Amino acid sequence: KEIMFTGIQPSGSFTLGNYCGTMCNWYNLQKKYKCFFCISDLHAFNTIQKASKKYKFFDKIFDLVALYLSCGVNPKKSIIFVQFQVHTHSQLYWILSNFTYFGELFRMTQFKKKKELLNNKEIDLALFCYPVLMAADILLYKTNFVSIGLDQKQHLELVQNIAYRFNRIYKDIFVIPKILIKSIGSKIMALQEPKKKMSKSDVNIKNTIFLLDNIDLIRLKLQKSLTDSDKSAKIIYDTRKKPGISNLLSIFSSITKKTIFNLENEFKYTKYSIFKKNLSDVVCDTISNIQKSYFYFRKNKDYLIDIINLGKKYALNDSLKNLFKIYKKLGF
Ligand code: ATP
Ligand code: MG
Repeated sequence: KEIMFTGIQPSGSFTLGNYCGTMCNWYNLQKKYKCFFCISDLHAFNTIQKASKKYKFFDKIFDLVALYLSCGVNPKKSIIFVQFQVHTHSQLYWILSNFTYFGELFRMTQFKKKKELLNNKEIDLALFCYPVLMAADILLYKTNFVSIGLDQKQHLELVQNIAYRFNRIYKDIFVIPKILIKSIGSKIMALQEPKKKMSKSDVNIKNTIFLLDNIDLIRLKLQKSLTDSDKSAKIIYDTRKKPGISNLLSIFSSITKKTIFNLENEFKYTKYSIFKKNLSDVVCDTISNIQKSYFYFRKNKDYLIDIINLGKKYALNDSLKNLFKIYKKLGF
């Protein structure tokens, strides 16, 4: 079986963007691929340690394992593991940083944005090198496919370039990972500002639906989401003229798997308010099911510990084999 790798940072609270962008696909990906689901706490450390020195990573890790399970990850089929518990990631990171140029990291738009947010002050090395650690995460497992949202595409292309560059010198050590981006839902936008991405770290909470939000609050946020003052008031997918409605259609389509075309037809003569009510019903139904199983799994800490221990063993074993091959090839 081919390998699929993906991950989420255990930072903040998980959003409908995370779900529509990648998580809602995970159940099906397991049918086709052998899957690794990483909990990227080393990545999260970079942003979190600045925000809070008392951050309890372990609580957040358990939250995320429970969420992975409630979104359909099957621990009997797939590997769920915590990045910090598998030391090979940091080791390969150093090797790969020798094959990554300053200029290409400097061009990463996510870096540029975060740099701006920090007012260009105290930009640490980890923020800058973040995509190199991502390359290590992925390349360690001979990954064939990586499931991500659109915002990560540029990082993934860099990962591919690093692998190519390495292979040119050391002959086909790395598998070049292919990028899996959903055609719909890969970039869910902020509800009040539909020109920017829905994000965990948004200061305006009306912009974001959190998977653990109270169901009534989710309804309210959807109902109050920004649409447009287009006189025809039609439900049409047009990201330029109608970014708000298009975003709601993307959410609807990701959740129900109905095509945008079919949804446009179904709601052609419907008022925005009725459309939003229908959308709220399907979103709330899906999220409340996720929440039910989330709270069930989250209480069962021993079970969660068993899962990550097993994942650690597997990931360590698998990645160590590959890491040693790489070291050997490099002459160590
Ligand atoms: P932050 O904004 O703090 O970076 P995040 O919501 O982007 O947080 P990550 O852990 O960085 O969360 O991303 C996890 C996965 O979710 C990635 O594959 C990312 O591309 C995807 N993702 C994040 N936001 C969205 C979104 N708005 N729409 C679709 N996919 C998204
Ligand atoms: Mg992100």
